[in-house]
Amino acid sequence: MRVRHPEFHRSGRIGWLRAAVLGANDGIVSTASLVIGVAAAHANRSEVLLAGVAGLAAGALSMAAGEYVSVSSQADTEHADLQKERSELADDPEGELRELTGIYMKRGLEPNLARTVAQQLMAHDALGAHARDELGISAQFRARPLQAAVASAMSFAVGAALPIVTVIVAPQSRLVMTVGTTSLISLVGLGALAARTGGASATVGALRVAFWGALAMLVTAGVGALFGIAA
Ligand SMILES: [Zn+2]
Repeated sequence: MRVRHPEFHRSGRIGWLRAAVLGANDGIVSTASLVIGVAAAHANRSEVLLAGVAGLAAGALSMAAGEYVSVSSQADTEHADLQKERSELADDPEGELRELTGIYMKRGLEPNLARTVAQQLMAHDALGAHARDELGISAQFRARPLQAAVASAMSFAVGAALPIVTVIVAPQSRLVMTVGTTSLISLVGLGALAARTGGASATVGALRVAFWGALAMLVTAGVGALFGIAA
C-alpha cells in the first residue's frame, strides 16, 4: 500500500560502476592515509607495508560486512513488502485492481484506459505489476546482499593495493611524498570517472575527491609525525 523510493544507486549498470569507483576511492584514501601516518612516524618500509596490508584486510572486510547488513535489510524489506502484497492480492483483488488503476491515472492515463492496463497487467502477472508500479521493486533491481558485499570488498581492495604497491616500489626516503602523489592522481581520475558516470561535471567531482583525500592524508601524516616524536 505504500510507495517506496527504491535505492537505485546500488542497482543497474551505472550504479554498480559508481559503487565500485566509490569503494576504490575508500580503499585509496584510507590505506594511503594509514601508510602515510605510519611512515611519518619514522617506521621502516616493512612496518609501513604491514600496516598497509592490515589496513587493506580490515577495510575490505568491514566494507563487506557493512554492505551485507545494509543490503540484507533492504532485501528483508522488499521480501516483507512482496509478502504483504501477495496476501492483499489474495484477500482483495478488486481493491488491488482499483489501487493499480489509481496509480496509472496519477501517471496520466485516463480512467478507462488505466483500468484496462491494470486489468491486463494483473491478468499477466498480478504480483509483478504491483511490485513494480506500486512498490518500485523490479526483478533486475532486487537487492542482492552477497554480490554487494563481495563487490565492495573487491573494489576497496583494488583501491588499497595502489598505495601498498607504491610502498613496495618507492624509495624509502620519499615514501610519504610518493604515496601521497600517486594516491592523489588516482583519486582525481576516479573522481572524474564517478562524476561522469553520474552525469555531473568531471572537474568538480575530481576536485572534491582530491580535496578530501588530501585532507585525510595530511591529517594522518600530522598525527603520525606527532606520535612518532612522542614514541
Ligand atoms: Zn497493491
